[in-house]
Amino acid sequence: MEKARKILDEQFDELVHALRNVICFDTEKSAPAPDAPFGTNIKRCLDYTLELAASFGLDTYNCDGYAGHAQLAGSGSEVLGILGHLDVVPAKPSEWKYPPYAAEIHDCKLYGRGTMDDKGPMIACLYALKALKESGFTPSKTIRIIFGCDEESGMACVEHYFSKMPYPTVSFSPDGDFPVINREKGIYQFDIVCGKLPDGVTITAGERANVVPSLCTAVSPIRLNTGAHITCDAGTKAHTYTATGKAAHGSTPDEGINATHNLLHALADAFPDNATLKFLDDSVTDTTGSKWHIALCDRESGRLTCNLGVLRTASDGTLTATVDIRFPVTYTCDQMYELLRTNTPSEFQIVPQHISEPLFVPSDSALVTTLMNVYNSEMHTNLQPLAIGGGTYSRCLPNCVAFGPLFPGEAQTIHMPDEAISLGNLRTMSLLYLEAIYRLSR
Ligand SMILES: [Zn+2]
Repeated sequence: MEKARKILDEQFDELVHALRNVICFDTEKSAPAPDAPFGTNIKRCLDYTLELAASFGLDTYNCDGYAGHAQLAGSGSEVLGILGHLDVVPAKPSEWKYPPYAAEIHDCKLYGRGTMDDKGPMIACLYALKALKESGFTPSKTIRIIFGCDEESGMACVEHYFSKMPYPTVSFSPDGDFPVINREKGIYQFDIVCGKLPDGVTITAGERANVVPSLCTAVSPIRLNTGAHITCDAGTKAHTYTATGKAAHGSTPDEGINATHNLLHALADAFPDNATLKFLDDSVTDTTGSKWHIALCDRESGRLTCNLGVLRTASDGTLTATVDIRFPVTYTCDQMYELLRTNTPSEFQIVPQHISEPLFVPSDSALVTTLMNVYNSEMHTNLQPLAIGGGTYSRCLPNCVAFGPLFPGEAQTIHMPDEAISLGNLRTMSLLYLEAIYRLSR
């Protein structure tokens, strides 16, 4: 291992050079073209990365432009998978200090869209594998680095890739946080098609299930009894109310202030006979799910959370609410549905939109203990694995956890303007990935 570490360290400048080339491909999803299901830029970036891997003597495979892999064959039949992606979320150049696709280095940081999410850690893994190969190491498991091309906009990449290739025996995904994320709550996003609102009442809020809405507007023919943060624009026939709150991610609803809650309460007060308003106000506005009688909880991942993300009133007065529930890891989507069905008025329809089973690899499994040992011994820490509200790329395949690249306490720039990776952290993570690959494949 000393030899591989030395090789990796000596090749760090080469690693940075390759990463800068990969960052310069603007891999935002664009119109499909032949062999380029997610656009020609993503295809060119995948081609470049696989050619680079082939030049290291690794075997490569391009899966119809959806994804690809580079691998070092092992002596046994098992496979260690490393799953990451080359596509990025859009960047608005006007919001950036440095251009998002120029890969400029300033103050020991490499700036660019994808530097952290997820090209930086993927190229670090690729060079770790190169160093292992050049050190003469023969793994017992085949080491396979999988480059997804559609992580940010629908995951069609892994769907297609795993329809052609078997799942690896065990995997990690460098697309989350250090030390290790081994528990991700289940995701249950769904519409509730409720009943009709009272005549003349409409209520509107939010764009996405997984965001706490910071703005909610309602129209009412009668005056409402409102509290703070709600303004009223009195008209001759109707009053328009605007409530403000604070946005947050839907998996952590208590970090925000949901603008719908107080306005729904005021409406339910004004129209006590309306079943839709009563149900939403009584049950759905509780972020713990207690009042809805769906408050699941377990030792491994804690409590369920509930975010009322979107409200829409149809022209006939029917209200549809979109809700994002994150449920604990020891339950299933089917159990979640049953619980919702039992505790929601039977005349209201429940329409699942995006649902995903929890990810749960026990903390005492070989995969988690090995990665935790790598992290704690390299970093001289004594940390424990993490549970989150979900969901990282690692939930796309069984027996996979997230391992880096974000260090504890590090300011995060993922999906934001001026995304950057510190060159010091890039060097550290490349050594962590080297140790992890070595210990999981030997
Ligand atoms: Zn990512």
